[in-house]
Amino acid sequence: MCDRSRTPALVDEIAAFLLSGCCSGCDLPGTLLCRWCRDVLVADPVHRTTPGGMPVVAALTYEGVPARCIRRLKEEGETLLARPLGAALRVAIDEFLPGTGRARLVPVPTSRAAFRRRGYRVPDLLIRRAGLSVSRLLAPTRTTADQRGLDIAERRRNVAQSMRVRHARGGRDILLVDDVITTGATLDEAARALTAAGNRMLGAVTLAATPRHREFTSNAS
Ligand SMILES: [Zn+2]
Repeated sequence: MCDRSRTPALVDEIAAFLLSGCCSGCDLPGTLLCRWCRDVLVADPVHRTTPGGMPVVAALTYEGVPARCIRRLKEEGETLLARPLGAALRVAIDEFLPGTGRARLVPVPTSRAAFRRRGYRVPDLLIRRAGLSVSRLLAPTRTTADQRGLDIAERRRNVAQSMRVRHARGGRDILLVDDVITTGATLDEAARALTAAGNRMLGAVTLAATPRHREFTSNAS
């Protein structure tokens, strides 16, 4: 049994990984991420389109080992996983913008509650671990409900007008970045705010995309 649900201090956490940790993907003892699971986290990009018509490239499919590792990064504080997951994100970014181009990489904003709970912003951390710089142009304007269990129209209403641009100057080419795309409603809201401020949307890149049949049951942010 590998129970690491508590959130010990960083030193204790690292010691736990070294001494009694187990693989985030398959629970194999003695490693944060076994060789087999590391191979499963190699990007295999999938292409999606948001309801608003924006193109999206996702590095991984949100199921099995990738889903387990992303949940551990998001909900259990295992930030060391941001390195292999950031490498997967980098592949999707490079597929969208060969050589990373001149676009600003703008993360979907993290709610204040999630930031307080985790102490870090997942999309921002992934961009940095991908070796790229973060343009934190968006901020949340209000609290939104958990998107799980909502259909496409409900998700759109839930996130409507929930983001604002932090710096008024527009005219930038933007590539949005998020951890998981479900229906794409959140990405469309981010694009609305950025476009209204005079920026040009190139599209979005996410670490993972939920399989089609699970669009309405997964990915709490
Ligand atoms: Zn494993």
